[in-house]
Amino acid sequence: MTGTTLVTDAQNTWCPGCGNFSIQHALRAVLLEMASEGLPLEQVVLVTGIGCHAKMADYLDVNSFYAIHGRVMPVATGIALANPDLTVICCAGDGDAYAEGLDHLIFAAKRNINLTVIIHNNRVYGLTTGQYTPTSPLGFRGRSTPKGTVEKAFNPLELVLASGGTHVARGYTRKQPMLKALIREAIRHRGFSFIDVLQICATYNDPHEAYDRLAYPLTGHNPGDFDAACRKIREWDYNREAPIALGTFYSVEEPSFEERFRLTPQSPAEREAAIRSHLEGN
Ligand code: SF4
Ligand code: MG
Repeated sequence: MTGTTLVTDAQNTWCPGCGNFSIQHALRAVLLEMASEGLPLEQVVLVTGIGCHAKMADYLDVNSFYAIHGRVMPVATGIALANPDLTVICCAGDGDAYAEGLDHLIFAAKRNINLTVIIHNNRVYGLTTGQYTPTSPLGFRGRSTPKGTVEKAFNPLELVLASGGTHVARGYTRKQPMLKALIREAIRHRGFSFIDVLQICATYNDPHEAYDRLAYPLTGHNPGDFDAACRKIREWDYNREAPIALGTFYSVEEPSFEERFRLTPQSPAEREAAIRSHLEGN
């Protein structure tokens, strides 16, 4: 794939000003940069779900798979297990991964499967014209809640951290250099890497004025400290106005699911030997 720009000739149908453009641009730039450093682009697989974000699979010229709604993580898990040499990147929406696919997100984090998960979090269902999602703030007025939601948003970073995610970060589409750095770092991390990207939906939810005012880069933070990560992640709960930290909150190295899976003895004799060895304290 030498000389590629990673741009397909598919007609782009995102609304003008959509934050998806920024994520596409950042991911494309990172992949091209990593390819120039030796990453074989043939071994990159992009899995997307259902929603406006999913068109990333149409617009980025890499191997890709459109999963059904909420099923990005199980499809990506199968791909990563079948061939652990692949670089598997998941793009999913907030409606996709935090509602329909929430259980799959939690289990992918719990297993520490070697995936890079980029959530296009515009805090609304864009494709279906503006219904509230699990990260829409309390009181959000959309097509399905004209008088405002009566339930609070949850904090996806807190959820993924509690589920066992070994790399937890937050980016913002209007902070492009940082977003690229976060994506690059997440791809390099072995194990489950998760980036919640605050994204503007130009048509149904555009809080960029608040994000621009409240977002700040994490500095002087130790990403190996679980308690510190918890505290920083809780600084903003996705409902009230508060400082919004951007960066990597938590990052530790642990054996990935694929590594444990490969080390697990497969035959009855191997299993018995492994159990015996374990009981004998070897
Ligand atoms: Fe982007 Fe929103 Fe338009 Fe979908 S509806 S393409 S998320 S601006
Ligand atoms: Mg959305």
